[in-house]
Amino acid sequence: MSLPEFKLLRPRALPDAIGYLAHYAGNIRVLAGGTDLIPSMRQKLFEPEYVLDLRGISELRGIKSHADGRTDVGALTSLRAIEKSAYLREHFSVLAEAAATVASPVIRNMGTIGGNICLDTRCLWYNQSLPWRKGCGFCIKKDGDICHVAPGGTKCWAAFSGDTPAALLCLNAEIELASANGTRRVTLRDFYTNDGQNYRKLKPNELLTRVFLPRESAGYRGVYRKLRVRGSIDYPLAGVAVAIKRSNGHVLDARVAITAVNPAPMIVEDAAKMLRGNVVDEALADSVGDLAARTAKPLTTSALTPEYRREMIRVFAKRALLAAWN
Ligand SMILES: Cc1cc2nc3c(=O)[nH]c(=O)nc-3n(C[C@H](O)[C@H](O)[C@H](O)COP(=O)(O)OP(=O)(O)OC[C@H]3O[C@@H](n4cnc5c(N)ncnc54)[C@H](O)[C@@H]3O)c2cc1C
Ligand code: SF4
Repeated sequence: MSLPEFKLLRPRALPDAIGYLAHYAGNIRVLAGGTDLIPSMRQKLFEPEYVLDLRGISELRGIKSHADGRTDVGALTSLRAIEKSAYLREHFSVLAEAAATVASPVIRNMGTIGGNICLDTRCLWYNQSLPWRKGCGFCIKKDGDICHVAPGGTKCWAAFSGDTPAALLCLNAEIELASANGTRRVTLRDFYTNDGQNYRKLKPNELLTRVFLPRESAGYRGVYRKLRVRGSIDYPLAGVAVAIKRSNGHVLDARVAITAVNPAPMIVEDAAKMLRGNVVDEALADSVGDLAARTAKPLTTSALTPEYRREMIRVFAKRALLAAWN
């Protein structure tokens, strides 16, 4: 599968990148590590006239901890740097754990946190070559008007399949979006739409520049668990992140989030309420597992059945919670 023709833009400074985006909005794609964009372009899922390569912009790279406890991570920071950061491992362990499970070491060296957050949603009927899609029939997400997964519907159910966003939701992370009109800061929770087609609230002229980890989220014990076909490399087909803070043998606060089973990564609402003030035991972990499974709405967007993926959300939520507690 060859790449379609495009013009490569390689700015060295953020204002230049933002300028290009403003000028070519609608006909340009951002390239960070390229580990998802390039395969997708080969499959002719995107055929932009311009590709904006961010890799020369050094100010978008790096993990900074501030004296007042705030931490920010540049959008171009590699997943490998996040996985290996002793600082993140100590203070925001759920993020380092989730990053360490993405794909393989080679891909984590290239892939970035910004690319992981902006990752396109995935579906068996979509992540295929052009001849495959043409042969089987195009669908709502690209070039068609039907959904093979939920026929009769008008919505795309492709699953958001990034690992780190579930961890970032547990940390109440916020992101910075920059454009020629200035910057805006949004919570990660508000960034996703739960619609597989228009899955994120990113305007065509906007760039994700930084991820903010609030001081209040430091020190939670974090665990991430995922289901994948090949343990050494694959995207998640179900993922659970848990972050928990203890005090005097009880849960002071806890957050549970899931990924890869809905068109958006999601916080498990009410898990915190269920856990606060309690001691985590098998029965409580079972109840949280049930809540997580109720939040998951997988459809047949992958080779594994929705029933199995949903069940694994229940199992992983329980296991992750017990592991974080113990
Ligand atoms: C074999 C294989 C296995 C994989 N396994 C996993 C896995 O287990 N878990 C997982 O989460 N991912 C997986 N991936 C997907 C991918 O490698 C990661 O999600 C990676 O983090 C993507 O980052 P990137 O920098 O390479 O993004 P890119 O491919 O460069 O970009 C991805 C998307 O985000 C947009 N984008 C990137 N950066 C920005 C920005 N700063 N502002 C605005 N838009 C931006 C791009 O335009 C594109 O649409 C896998 C990929 C492959 C090829
Ligand atoms: S969920 Fe439906 S519309 Fe979306 S990619 Fe799959 S088949 Fe296409």
